[in-house]
Amino acid sequence: VAARPAPYLEGLNPAQRAAVEVLDGPVLMLAGAGTGKTRALTTRIAHLLMLGRARPGQLLAVTFTNKAAREMKTRIARLLGDTVEGMPWLGTFHSISVKILRRHAEMIGRDGLHLKPSFTILDTDDQIRLLKQLIQAENIDEKRWPARQLAHLIDGWKNRCIGPGSLPRGEGEAFDGHGGKLYAAYQDRLLTLNAVDFGDLLMHCVTLFQAHPDVLRQWQERFRYILVDEYQDTNVAQYMWLRLLAQAHRNICCVGDDDQSIYGWRGAEVGNILRFEKDFPGAEVIRLEQNYRSTPQILGAASGLIAANQGRLGKTLWTDAEPGEPVRLIGHWDSEAEARWIGEEIEAFQGGHRAALGRVGLDDIAILVRASHQMRAFEDRFMTIGLPYRVIGGPRFYERQEIRDAMAYFRLVVSPDDDLAFERIVNTPKRGLGDKALQTIQHAARQNGVNLLEGARIVVEEKQLGGKGLANLRDFVGLIGRSHMAVRDGVGHVELAERVLDESGYTTMWQTDKSPDAPGRLDNLKELVKALEEFENLQGFLEHVSLVMDRDDGEQTEQVSIMTLHGAKGLEFPVVFLPGWEDGLFPNQRAMDEQGTKGLEEERRLAYVGITRAERLATITFAGNRRLYGQWQSALPSRFIDELPEEHVEVLTPPGLYGGGYGAAMAMAGGTRMEERVQKADVYNSPGWKRMQARAADRRGPVHRTPVTIDAAPASRFTVGDRVLHAKFGEGQIIGIAEETLTVQFEAGFKNIKAAYVQPAGG
Ligand code: ATP
Ligand code: MG
Repeated sequence: VAARPAPYLEGLNPAQRAAVEVLDGPVLMLAGAGTGKTRALTTRIAHLLMLGRARPGQLLAVTFTNKAAREMKTRIARLLGDTVEGMPWLGTFHSISVKILRRHAEMIGRDGLHLKPSFTILDTDDQIRLLKQLIQAENIDEKRWPARQLAHLIDGWKNRCIGPGSLPRGEGEAFDGHGGKLYAAYQDRLLTLNAVDFGDLLMHCVTLFQAHPDVLRQWQERFRYILVDEYQDTNVAQYMWLRLLAQAHRNICCVGDDDQSIYGWRGAEVGNILRFEKDFPGAEVIRLEQNYRSTPQILGAASGLIAANQGRLGKTLWTDAEPGEPVRLIGHWDSEAEARWIGEEIEAFQGGHRAALGRVGLDDIAILVRASHQMRAFEDRFMTIGLPYRVIGGPRFYERQEIRDAMAYFRLVVSPDDDLAFERIVNTPKRGLGDKALQTIQHAARQNGVNLLEGARIVVEEKQLGGKGLANLRDFVGLIGRSHMAVRDGVGHVELAERVLDESGYTTMWQTDKSPDAPGRLDNLKELVKALEEFENLQGFLEHVSLVMDRDDGEQTEQVSIMTLHGAKGLEFPVVFLPGWEDGLFPNQRAMDEQGTKGLEEERRLAYVGITRAERLATITFAGNRRLYGQWQSALPSRFIDELPEEHVEVLTPPGLYGGGYGAAMAMAGGTRMEERVQKADVYNSPGWKRMQARAADRRGPVHRTPVTIDAAPASRFTVGDRVLHAKFGEGQIIGIAEETLTVQFEAGFKNIKAAYVQPAGG
C-alpha cells in the first residue's frame, strides 16, 4: 500500500475519513441526510479491501434494497478498479439470509421434519392461500377472521423472532383464541412443503445461530467485517441477526439517521440505534454534519420541518453549497390539475427555461408520492403528453392486482369472448369455482364451440356442477349478462362499473380484508372508477389502458421517475416534486386519528426524507380537491406546510387559477368559504393560513380536521330540461334523471353524473 493516502480517501472530510479509517471495533455513524454516510460506508469497504484486511468474501454489507446493493457494487468496483478480485457479500438482510439458510437447511425444523436446501420462498399470495386452508380446517369463520389478518400477526411475530413455541403470554390468544395454534400449524405445514416465507428467512437464521454455536462460529469467522446502511430501519430480528454475527470480533459499522426512520409500521425500531452503544460498549460514534447534496434552502426547509418532532437524537446540519431557489409551494384545484402542472413544468425544464438550474434531463427528475394511488394521475397525464416515465419499486398503476382484476370484469362486460378475463375473475372473489369447475366450463365451451362465458351458461342450465358452486356461477353469469344489457340500454359506464364491482362481491372482498394493504387497494379501485369518468365508455377506457400498458420501456431513453416516498430512501435527484401535501393524505388519516404523536412523527420523518432527496430544486404541491374513498373532498393543505420555515419557501400562483374554469368551479364548490380554504395562490396571506399558523402554535398531538365534502345537491332539485354546471364538462342540459344520477348533454357529449357534482347553471 502506498504511503500517500489512496486517491479515494482524498475527497472525504475529516469525519468521513475517521469513519473509513477506524478499522477495528464497533463504529456507529449517526448523521443527517446527504452527509455522505453511504459514500463513507462504500469507501470503507474499498479501504478494507485495499489494505488487505479482508478478502472480498470476508466482508458482509447490508443494504435496504436490492437496488441500493447494486449501486454499491458499482461504486466499489469503480473505487477499486481491477485491483481486487471478487465481491463482498452485499445485499439485503433477506437475500443474505437465503444464502446462509441454503447451506444449513437441514438444521431447521423439528422431529424429523426439516427443510431441504432446495426450499422455496413463498410469496404473499401463496402464504395467504395456505393460511386460508388452515383457517378452514379449524372451522373458523373466514369472513370475520380473514387470512390476511393472521398473516399480518405472524409477520409481526417473526419480525420479533418469536416462534410458535415462545409466544409471550396472551399473544397466542389473538385471532379469536386460535393465533398460536394456527401459527404452529402454519410453520409445520411450511416444513412439509419444504417452504419458507419472508419472515422465516431472518427468524430461521437467528434460530440456527442460537441453536448451533458451531455454525454461528463458522459465520462469525467468515465475516470479519460487517457494514450496515440505513440502520435506523432494522427490526428486532435483524438486530439479533447482526448482533449474533458481530459478537465475536465486534467489527461492525452501522450508519443511519434517526430522522429517517420510516418503517416503524413494519416493526423497525429506532431504539436499535440507542441499543448499539450498550451492546457494543466502546463504540466509536461518528457524526457527520456537512451536507453535500442539497442547497441551503432545501436543507433549511427540511431541518425546520423535522424540528417539530420530539425525542430526536438531534443533529447539526450545514452546507457550503451555493444558494439556490427556495422550496416552491403551489396549490391546485384538483389532483388532475396538479398532474397537468407538474407535466408542464417538466416540459419547461426540457425547453431549457430554467437556465439557473443547468441542464435538467428527465433522469434528473423524480416525483415522490405518499400513496401509490396518487401515481395514476401522473401516469395518465404523462402518457397523454408523451413524457417518458418509469415507476420505481412497484408495478405501474394498471399492473396492480386489484386493477387487473377490476379491468377483467370490465373486459368481460365489453367483450364476452374474452376468455382470459373470464378465467381471471370467475373465482375472484372466491365462489367455490376451483380448477375442477373451470375444467367443466372449458369442456362445455369446447363441446359447443362457444366462449367460456357461454360455456358457463350451459353448465348452469344443465346443472353440471353441484351445490354452492352452481348457484354462485349462476349469479356470476347473470351479473355479466345483465351488464351486457345495461351497456346496450345506454346505462352510464361509470355507474355500470361501480355496480359490477359491487354486485360481484369484488369490492366487498377488499373491504372485509384486514390486511394492511387492503385500504390502499380500495383506494386504487376508487381511483380506477375516477379514471373512467374521463372516457365516453368502457371500450374507450380499455383501449386507453392497453396503450398505457403497451408503451415500450426502452431503457436507453431518459425517464422521469415516479415512486413512493418510502421507496426513495437513500436516493437523490436534482429536481424533486412532492405532490399531495394535504391533511388526510400526507400526513395520512390514520396517523392523524391516532392517539399520541407517534404516527404523525413518522409521517413527518417521511416528509423529511422526501425534501432531502432534492439536490437543487424541490417543489411541494397540493390539491384543493381530491377524490378519496369515492367522493370528492375538499382538502386542507398539509399541516407539514405550516411547519416549513417561511424564509425558505416561495409560494407560486398556478397559471389560470383565477381564469373562468377555476372561478366557475369555485362558485360550484360552495362559494367563498371554500375559496378561502383553497386559496393556495396566496397561502401565506390568506386568513385560513393565519388561522392554521395560530393553531399550529398551540398544537399538541393530532388535531382532527374533518374534510368537508363539497356541498351536495340532491337530485330532487332538478327536473329534466334544467341547465346545470359541472366542474369539468362546463354547462349542460339535463335530459334524464334516475334517482341520484343525471344524464346531461354537455358540449362534450352525454354524461351520466351524480347529482351531487353539478350545480344549477347560473344559480
Ligand atoms: P441519506 O441519508 O439520504 O442516505 P447519505 O448520508 O447516505 O444520505 P450520500 O448519499 O452518501 O449521503 O451522499 C450524498 C451526496 O453527497 C452524494 O452525491 C455524495 O457523492 C456526496 N458526497 C458525500 N461526501 C462528499 C464529500 N466529502 N465531498 C463531496 N461530495 C460528497
Ligand atoms: Mg445513504
